[in-house]
Amino acid sequence: MRLRTLEIALEGLEGFVRPDPRTEQYVTPAPLAARLLHHAHLLGDIGGKAVCDLGCGTGILACGAALLGAERVAGVELDPEALAVAKRNAARLGAEITFLQGDVRDRDVIEGLGSFDTVVMNPPFGAQDPHADRPFVDAALALAPVVYGIFNSGSLPFLGVYTAERATLEFAIGGILPLKRTLPFHRREVVEIEVEVVRMMRR
Ligand code: SAH
Repeated sequence: MRLRTLEIALEGLEGFVRPDPRTEQYVTPAPLAARLLHHAHLLGDIGGKAVCDLGCGTGILACGAALLGAERVAGVELDPEALAVAKRNAARLGAEITFLQGDVRDRDVIEGLGSFDTVVMNPPFGAQDPHADRPFVDAALALAPVVYGIFNSGSLPFLGVYTAERATLEFAIGGILPLKRTLPFHRREVVEIEVEVVRMMRR
């Protein structure tokens, strides 16, 4: 599937009904989601692989992985309302995805998932809680040998220190996240933040 075709398919998906600022809910824009997945696919990490989306929200990354021919896709999300949207999105695309309501910080939840070839995720950036992305990194590296995560631009050195014993990291792609004023504390209509997709490879 071409990048543009994937992007158009993801563009049509439903977003959060009521985004919750405490868990930093925002949908990854379709162009960024498509580029992340396309990049991962070109590196052999999506097609025919078992892929898990951590904090899947409305399921855009999980759905995209399914469209690119992942053999098995799962999505984990705390918020049941977001999961209901994710299920509708998957159904609309005819994608077979196993969605699970659970907390990424819960060891039993992560262990119960089994193992995957690849994790894709857009974790909370820690605007509310400074280290909110850490449990995502921990869970991701426990689940799969290859992880793609979207982080604030400039996170690579910190992530490198945090995962030093467990993974080697490389910059995959850069992008812009236009955060619409969906959250009450946003002062401007659209705030653009630079992000980077980091590929982590378990040691
Ligand atoms: N992956 C989606 C959503 C990104 S927003 C996308 O790319 O569009 C981050 C998501 O992580 C939110 O849906 C939020 O509810 C979820 N989340 C935050 N903390 C979580 C936790 N501890 N366990 C599971 N999901 C969590």
